[in-house]
Amino acid sequence: MARIGFVGLGNMGGGMAANLAKGGHDVRAFDLSEAALARAKEAGCLPVGSAAEAATDAEFVVSMLPAGQHVRSVYAEQIFGAVPGSALLLDCSTIDIASARAVSSAAGEKGLAMLDAPVSGGIAAANAGTLTFMVGGSAEAFKRGEPILSLMGKTVIHAGGNGSGQAAKICNNMLLGASMIATCEAFAMAQKLGLDPQTFFDISSKSSGQNWSMTSYCPLPGVGPETPADRDYQGGFATGLMLKDLKLAMQAAADAGAAVPMGAAAESLYQVLANAGGGALDFSVIIKLLNGESIS
Ligand code: NAD
Repeated sequence: MARIGFVGLGNMGGGMAANLAKGGHDVRAFDLSEAALARAKEAGCLPVGSAAEAATDAEFVVSMLPAGQHVRSVYAEQIFGAVPGSALLLDCSTIDIASARAVSSAAGEKGLAMLDAPVSGGIAAANAGTLTFMVGGSAEAFKRGEPILSLMGKTVIHAGGNGSGQAAKICNNMLLGASMIATCEAFAMAQKLGLDPQTFFDISSKSSGQNWSMTSYCPLPGVGPETPADRDYQGGFATGLMLKDLKLAMQAAADAGAAVPMGAAAESLYQVLANAGGGALDFSVIIKLLNGESIS
């Protein structure tokens, strides 16, 4: 049994901390929200009064926070001053690569090992312990962190040095954003050309246009497997979070000098969708925007 400090018990972190407690670990959990702390207690974690308290005497610290500024401040102001030098730090938030590298390099200056370990898979996967982790950091730190990450996910892959986990995450989500829009375009056009959407699905899912956004996450209700489209685009992966990831991707592309015309188009279209009131709806609702339908 290891002592684990967990900071950020929101939609994702709540289930992840619960799975660490279920795995038999002593989880000291902190969040700014009282409701989140109460849920963590019910799930077998010990709620504590600050991130610093969660980090005190911890062998591992796991964080699941909204964005780069939260990660920078929580580590600088709370965790670095409290955590033992032997601890391994694992940040699972999706943040900008520059923040991930800055925080891990500040950790390194204090002799602490750190991994950036963002996830793919939504709230259901966080609760079920079936997330995919893409991990940046040294091979030695990865080896130490893998058993802990494996309690929260079914796939754990070492992507390279610090920041590489975040790089893999935003490249993947840029691909997802663009492929969802392309899939929606194809369904919308197929219908305008008089094709039955189920028939088009049957053909394209067995042809060269086949992709995950079509076969596992079909944006049309009643076609393919059950998806958020069948629940009026409630739940799933919020447009606002997709837009956040696309903005991170555009920032990284500019820094790296990468040409990303499809990713840039996806970012613009998801911004239009968010401005039209779709921010809280599943990102596949973009098919309504393409069809000129009202979003909410
Ligand atoms: P969330 O907003 O539900 O949870 C974030 C939690 O962090 C909140 O409970 C908040 O109170 C807490 N928090 C903020 N500042 C804090 C501080 N200073 N100290 C302690 N707690 C603090 O967000 P989420 O959906 O759980 O997402 C967390 C991260 O996971 C984000 O980076 C997101 O991009 C990423 N992610 C989310 C999903 C998803 O489907 N929701 C999927 C993959 C990755």
